[in-house]
Amino acid sequence: MRNKLAIANWKMNKSRAEAKEFCEQLRQAAPELTGVETVVCPPFTSLYLVAEQLENTGVHWGGQNCFWEEQGAYTGEVSPLMLRDLRCRYVILGHSERRQILGETDAMINRKLAAAIGAGLIPILCVGETLQERENHRAREVVKEQLDQDLRNLAPPTAGLVIAYEPVWAIGTGVNASSDDAQEMISFIRERLAQSLGPESAAVTPILYGGSVNSNNIAEIMAEKDIDGALIGGASLQVSSFVTIARLIANA
Ligand code: PEP
Repeated sequence: MRNKLAIANWKMNKSRAEAKEFCEQLRQAAPELTGVETVVCPPFTSLYLVAEQLENTGVHWGGQNCFWEEQGAYTGEVSPLMLRDLRCRYVILGHSERRQILGETDAMINRKLAAAIGAGLIPILCVGETLQERENHRAREVVKEQLDQDLRNLAPPTAGLVIAYEPVWAIGTGVNASSDDAQEMISFIRERLAQSLGPESAAVTPILYGGSVNSNNIAEIMAEKDIDGALIGGASLQVSSFVTIARLIANA
């Protein structure tokens, strides 16, 4: 039985005051959020505050990135141990914005995954194809390559692993993948995981869809049998829409 997940990726948004207001409202809703694990991933500047606000509410929090070393002369980086120090349970790795805008390669993501797993974090590994790759019928090949390289030489993570299938063309565009296309890719991802991490690990790994999820399209996406929840960007910035999406995931 896999956990259902609703994960908020705030990206580079919210002042500390805005983050506090969000958490105060989320705390009120938290007791009703059963049947779904909710996670908030704020920018590093709000992480300490979010950790304090969400402690003992059942809601978890995580980083949007981390480095592969534990400490040292790496200006601007944050280590997995530092995230653990803030009692993070999760860390997003390999988001397409980091791959595309900041030049993260699969080799770098592989090192980050190993470090995050070693520190006891649960990585949320993002994979997905661009529009051009989809139009050229290369979507599966691209996702397979990302998974194989990102997970290369990794033992099945004991704390767990989450995969988010996020077609790049669906992120922040208002155009989500059809539920059929998302299901097809997610079941393919599970097959690949079975090959790289083994069938037992593949069977318990939640695989999420991400890309323009909102309260109008999530029920249809969640009706697919292999989709275990969502990584939510824009629609996670308002507590009301995040909570509505989380409830719809729980009820799916
Ligand atoms: C994301 O950034 O992971 C994401 C899915 O964004 P959005 O929901 O805004 O498309």
